[in-house]
Amino acid sequence: PKYVYRFSEGDKDQKDLLGGKGANLAEMTRLGLPVPPGFTITTDACRAYLKDGQAPDELAVEVTTALRQVEEELGRELGAAHDPLLVSVRSGAKFSMPGMMETVLNIGLNDASVVGLAEASGDPRFAWDSYRRLIQMFGKTVLDVDGEHFSRALEAKKAERGVALDYELDVDALTELVGEYKTIVFEHAGIDFPQDPRAQLDLATEAVFRSWNTERAHIYRRREKIPHDLGTAVNICTMVFGNMGETSGTGVCFTRDPSTGRSGVYGDYLVNAQGEDVVAGIRNTLSLADLERLDKNSYDDLRAAMRKLETHYRDLCDIEFTIERGKLWLLQTRVGKRTAAAAFRVATQLVDERLITMDEALTRVTGDQLNQLMFPQFDADHSARAHDLLTRAMPASPGAAVGYIAFNNAEAVARAEAGESVVLVRRETNPDDLPGMVAAVGVLTARGGKTSHAAVVARGMGKTCVVGADELDVDAEAGTLRVHGREDLVLTSADVIAIDGQTGEVFLGDVPVTDSPVMTYLRRGLAEALDTAGDVDTRELVTSVDRLMRHADKVRRLEVRANADTPDDARHAIHRGAEGVGLCRTEHMFLGERKQFVQNLILAASDEERESALDALLPLQKDDFVQMFETMNGKPMTVRLIDPPLHEFLPDLTELSVKIAVDRVSGGADPADEKLLAVVRRQHEANPMLGLRGVRLLLSMPGLIELQVRAIANAAVERLRAGGDPRPEIMIPLVGSVRELQIARERAEAVLREVSEQSGYTLDFPIGCMIELPRAAVSADTIAEEADFFSFGTNDLTQTTWGFSRDDVEGTFFKIYLDEGVFGVSPFETIDERGVGRMVEIGVERSRTTKPSLKLGVCGEHGGDPESIDFFHRVGLTYVSCSPFRVPVARLEAGRAAI
Ligand code: ADP
Ligand code: MG
Ligand code: MG
Repeated sequence: PKYVYRFSEGDKDQKDLLGGKGANLAEMTRLGLPVPPGFTITTDACRAYLKDGQAPDELAVEVTTALRQVEEELGRELGAAHDPLLVSVRSGAKFSMPGMMETVLNIGLNDASVVGLAEASGDPRFAWDSYRRLIQMFGKTVLDVDGEHFSRALEAKKAERGVALDYELDVDALTELVGEYKTIVFEHAGIDFPQDPRAQLDLATEAVFRSWNTERAHIYRRREKIPHDLGTAVNICTMVFGNMGETSGTGVCFTRDPSTGRSGVYGDYLVNAQGEDVVAGIRNTLSLADLERLDKNSYDDLRAAMRKLETHYRDLCDIEFTIERGKLWLLQTRVGKRTAAAAFRVATQLVDERLITMDEALTRVTGDQLNQLMFPQFDADHSARAHDLLTRAMPASPGAAVGYIAFNNAEAVARAEAGESVVLVRRETNPDDLPGMVAAVGVLTARGGKTSHAAVVARGMGKTCVVGADELDVDAEAGTLRVHGREDLVLTSADVIAIDGQTGEVFLGDVPVTDSPVMTYLRRGLAEALDTAGDVDTRELVTSVDRLMRHADKVRRLEVRANADTPDDARHAIHRGAEGVGLCRTEHMFLGERKQFVQNLILAASDEERESALDALLPLQKDDFVQMFETMNGKPMTVRLIDPPLHEFLPDLTELSVKIAVDRVSGGADPADEKLLAVVRRQHEANPMLGLRGVRLLLSMPGLIELQVRAIANAAVERLRAGGDPRPEIMIPLVGSVRELQIARERAEAVLREVSEQSGYTLDFPIGCMIELPRAAVSADTIAEEADFFSFGTNDLTQTTWGFSRDDVEGTFFKIYLDEGVFGVSPFETIDERGVGRMVEIGVERSRTTKPSLKLGVCGEHGGDPESIDFFHRVGLTYVSCSPFRVPVARLEAGRAAI
């Protein structure tokens, strides 16, 4: 292959081969912008070097040819004794990895050419300063000499000369320093600093290749999900000098403000400095307005270049530039990183400037960015300085929450009902903590990771959550919270804490929180958001979000529904744009005080006892449904019949045994308890996730389906009588065989028919099932015969396809699996396309052979995950259903998927 491309040969689409920096240098060259001549060594060469431990033979030859061309063009030679050409050797991978890899400037200087540079520039101080920089950088990055040695020598020299700043050292001092640096190199690297310019270039190139494999580069790539086998390109670029006196300088600029998205250029400039000085933040920088005053010509050239680049890339660009004695040079550009707010604003600004279409604008923003804009915020300065930081743990679900500490559910619920804000603080949470989590404004746990129960549930609810705060001792019994290393501090439920779900910080005391402007928009609409917006920036942001959301709604093909069990959830969902409820779980209709009736049902010895238990539940459930139908009036609502394992409605085995034992001692246990204990023992399951639940429970408990369907039907009739428009869809969970669905369906239809006849209303609600078992997916063609719709339950489908249960694995081997790359990301967060996703695909394909237009949805965690939504779009589902809080994200992502 060809290993070397001159800047004039490549273009911006060759990032795989030339790296991001190289591809964009080439593009700028093609655009006729002032880029110092140079060439790029490809990532192919890097991969070959890393594989064989040496560069391919052809590389040296191709480098010579390219270098000679540059030399001819400029009429100078690399490292010549007279007016030498100098170059930089710069890393540049496909994806930018800031600060991870190496760059060496001033290659070509040696004991002879430094004199030539001094003469040619007429500035000996500059020449010797450049030489000492080269030895320092080369020593560190190529020869692995500890940078400390150089900095120490530099500091000593400044002290000796009585100056404070690097650039105050004069030629003599710098000449001495060069000598000392060379000694350092010899002592620590065991070789002389190479005087041969070409040897410098080749050694630096190989050092850049090697920097791909440093440990920090590996860690960075793992975190950013960048593959390890890409390799880096190397750019050889003629040096231009920002450190040639007062008419020179170097800077970085953006074509728009990357932090607010404000239009108008933005940047930093340093007079008389070389590139790395800006980043190092050694001196205070000037603004571009200052540059305009200092050097109008260069400023005008820069503005023209920025405009050209933005027009060309049709996006916000960032640019590295250097001015050498009044002449502008561009050293780097790329489509710039930006905050979430800037992403939205810039996208619509570009539409208004007719640079991109609305479709393109939609591809420039993401659901994650929208999500970031939705969370409540701590007021601007909540840094550790301003407040008492207790600990920093793992941020699990973003947002900002402040409240009194609540150590248990009952406390959280009671205090929330009394109007207090509470943060639920637990060692860890489990499904029993749900009411407390719902009541609390935030959740803090001492144990568990990003996929622990607390984290997953909190994310689903859009509740701020910090987990794994292992410096905290939570004693729920005593009602105390202690912090390691702060012996004097004992917090109780009378104390207020603040948790930051973005940073994982936990503060003592109140930190002011506000609703984000985008949240106000989503909750209360554009007009109100604009009214309450404090400034122009906020108004523009809210308007951008509105325009992009409306466009997403226009182009998307996936419908977006919400998972909502209560009228409150349903209202939240509708306000955020949900078109229906894709999953209304009915478990909660059996909990609380109603548990007693369920226990009666389980214990029923006779038909009469059973009937009376069912009769007690019926009106209660009917009322639940009436409220839901009222809220969801005219919109579809998928009701899932009862799903969880039976034991969840029964007392805990140990607790009940203890109670009975205690009662016996103090005069005899309740016979009802004894009876219950026998049932609890009998129902105890080793593996409840795979036990008596879902359709299995429905088919084995007489009267259960009938109860639920009757409650739905009666509620629907009540709504119809009141002029409402209830649209329930009845969904059977955990079906594996068509026969299960058939039985459930017959029994449900019998009830619907009966209520229809009694009431005179036609109740022919769709009846469908969840597809959440591999058997259901692969036999979807058969099951489809009995179904009016399917909903893929990808949480359970992930568990059953992989054969592990979420609650059991996340604290154990998941971390190892993530580290070792078994998963790139938890399959509970983003659908595992190759495995679980394949199951979904098979289910879709097979079901459509039976019923081509069968309505297919998905419910569960994945319905609100951006990457998963894209997948669901591609496989052709009808809708996704996600938590109410994620609905806007899902709408946006469904729009993006359709483009
Ligand atoms: P990074 O990717 O870390 O920004 P660069 O390769 O862009 O590394 O270089 C580091 C610094 O050196 C930047 O400020 C860049 O502008 C400057 N630089 C690189 N090459 C040259 C050159 N040929 N002339 C002048 N400055 C350069
Ligand atoms: Mg750079
Ligand atoms: Mg399920």
